[in-house]
Amino acid sequence: MYIILLGAPAAGKGTQAELLTKSYAIPHISTGDIFRGNIAQGTLLGLKANEYISRGLLVPDEITEGIVADRLRQDDCRKGFLLDGFPRTVHQAEFLDGLLKDLGVEIDAVINIDTPDHVLIERITGRRVCESCKAVYHVKAKPSRTEGVCDKCGGKLVQREDDKEETFLKRLKTYYSQTKPLLDYYEKERKLFNVDGSTDAELTASRIIRILEDVG
Ligand code: ADP
Ligand code: ZN
Repeated sequence: MYIILLGAPAAGKGTQAELLTKSYAIPHISTGDIFRGNIAQGTLLGLKANEYISRGLLVPDEITEGIVADRLRQDDCRKGFLLDGFPRTVHQAEFLDGLLKDLGVEIDAVINIDTPDHVLIERITGRRVCESCKAVYHVKAKPSRTEGVCDKCGGKLVQREDDKEETFLKRLKTYYSQTKPLLDYYEKERKLFNVDGSTDAELTASRIIRILEDVG
């Protein structure tokens, strides 16, 4: 199964990706995770990417496309993959089309997780992540047992720099101007499926699985 997940920041792409890649045994490829991994390790790519990410901007297409091309050529991607956070611009979508042609594969479905702005803002400003194990919490929807402390490893819970409200509003603006046009792009290819992202994650996942069963 070859799947693309689309949606605004905080629409729940990451959560859905985790649930789906378990069901389908395919790799979860998140450009955001790849960038954060590189930032944490202090690589050159991480340094470069962080200049953009910390300001709520997209990392330039040339950088992001190169990373995805390398990743999709790896062996574990031969039987399918789930792309989370890529493509995010029309340029990236066109690049991906070329890459998939080279690889001889086709996308089965593009799932758009559709979520109203006020839900996104509430989710993000309450989101906390564990500094050590990266577990994700929410101050209201999924609080840790002890405030500020990770249930799983005892690590410190912090707010992602790009989750601060001001930066988040920039990310949302970037989404509307650069990523939302992709909905038309995939609609024209007749690959687009919309799913309501404002309800709970399990329900959203079951709806996505039903769509994938129909196309698969
Ligand atoms: P979210 O979906 O919540 O915005 P991600 O983890 O997908 O978070 O991405 C975090 C940041 O990484 C983005 O705000 C952006 O700066 C950068 N990024 C991720 N994917 C891409 C991409 N495909 N193109 C450009 N920048 C990207
Ligand atoms: Zn932890």
